[in-house]
Amino acid sequence: MKLSFLADVNSAADTVVFPVFKGQELKGTLESLDSQTGGLIAQHYNASKHFKFKLGQTLVLHLPEVTGFSQAILLGLGDEEKMDADNAEIAGGKLAKALKQSGVAHAGVYMDYGVTDSDLSVDLLIAHLALGLNLASYDFDKYKDKREKNDDDTALDAVDFISSQSEVADKVYQMLDAMAQGVFFARDLVNEPPNVLYPESYAEIVKEKLKPLGVQVEILDDKKMLKMGMGALMAVGQGSIRKPRMVIMRWNGGKADEKPLGFVGKGVTFDTGGISIKPAAQMDMMKMDMGGSAAVCGLMYSLALRKAPVNVVGAIGLVENMPSDNAYRPGDIIKAYNGKTIEVLNTDAEGRLVLCDTLSYVQEQDDPKVLIDLATLTGAIMVALGTEFTGVFCNDDDLWSKMESSGAKSGEQLWRMPLGENFSEEMKSKVADYRNLGTVSRFGGASTAAAFLEFFIDKDRPWAHMDIAGTAWAHKDKPLGPLGGTGAGVRALHKLITDHYE
Ligand SMILES: [Zn+2]
Repeated sequence: MKLSFLADVNSAADTVVFPVFKGQELKGTLESLDSQTGGLIAQHYNASKHFKFKLGQTLVLHLPEVTGFSQAILLGLGDEEKMDADNAEIAGGKLAKALKQSGVAHAGVYMDYGVTDSDLSVDLLIAHLALGLNLASYDFDKYKDKREKNDDDTALDAVDFISSQSEVADKVYQMLDAMAQGVFFARDLVNEPPNVLYPESYAEIVKEKLKPLGVQVEILDDKKMLKMGMGALMAVGQGSIRKPRMVIMRWNGGKADEKPLGFVGKGVTFDTGGISIKPAAQMDMMKMDMGGSAAVCGLMYSLALRKAPVNVVGAIGLVENMPSDNAYRPGDIIKAYNGKTIEVLNTDAEGRLVLCDTLSYVQEQDDPKVLIDLATLTGAIMVALGTEFTGVFCNDDDLWSKMESSGAKSGEQLWRMPLGENFSEEMKSKVADYRNLGTVSRFGGASTAAAFLEFFIDKDRPWAHMDIAGTAWAHKDKPLGPLGGTGAGVRALHKLITDHYE
């Protein structure tokens, strides 16, 4: 699908769309279309039982041939003063659905506004409407038999946004589109089945996608990591025939002497739980246990695509967690890359073991000025926050305030969770330095997991851990994307970088 920003309608468009606020007068192009059709628009516009101008609500009107279009769609924008980037995106997402359902191939969206009463300027309104439409159009159907496609399945080829401010809107949109491409890359990675996406193949996919854009890609294989002493990450992967990998991506778009921002992602390509095996129900979903790593890859892709003026290092630890005669066991004591020992109490608490070595390596090699990790780490975070909020654990108030404000503007919702001595104490072992499961209770599992990671963060380094276990996967179709991988983390972190580090 091609999105364009034009000053005038393209003659190839078969459908015209009019986004309208509640109480908006019949004016501009919509008014002339109304007089052309003998009052057809006004008849529905003012007195429709069905169309109430609600956000994202649509009404399809079939047009006579004389108009040059087959149909017009009214798109509700809700209350003008409540319009913001989030709402514009939701309206765009709902429009994508309506266009698909009405079999539209090429639509022209008329944005006849000088100004709006909301805080959102017209160019931003257009750009975010377009972003919502784009995000909602994502589909993962590469494994379906293409011969089975219905004849009446028209593909939406093009949408034009027509406005006097098309040039500015286009410019804003280019930045948002690069971000959207990163979201799509992350969604693709999460949606790939675990027989296709495993550590070795994952590393190759990342290299193929990012290298041509100028990202340096370093891959550590299992032999190298064993030799280097990455005993925590390697223990998790030792039960699988698919050997672990670590991928380090470096984008140097900023000043040569500027320390990079660091992003680390958990990439458990399939998590059976290992010897502490999970129940069978919904175990298929555990292909999404690499969602944190997917977000890091998506973010790197977005930044490289638009040649962002910033230095960033992204590192992902890739393993498959399997039970086998060679699998690690509850009771094992393993040695992490930084020399600390860990008592394994449960092999399903493996994400923290993968992350700790990846975090250590990135800090040692790249000394990032800010370090953020993402992981589908705990079920406990879903118990606490549900599936719309990402839990953030942060050792630095300044970093958190930046994440909070950028997150709120990005369309993702972040919520700060506590770290603290009582959680750290629970993660100390009698027989080793640390243990991978809390000591006294099953409560506060998201916080004890974060406290474990904190042991591996260098003193004074601003660090945040994002637990995306609840947000990385949509359990049903949503306004901005279908059931499956969401790309959670990419939008919030992209916004964090554009707001505070460029
Ligand atoms: Zn697990």
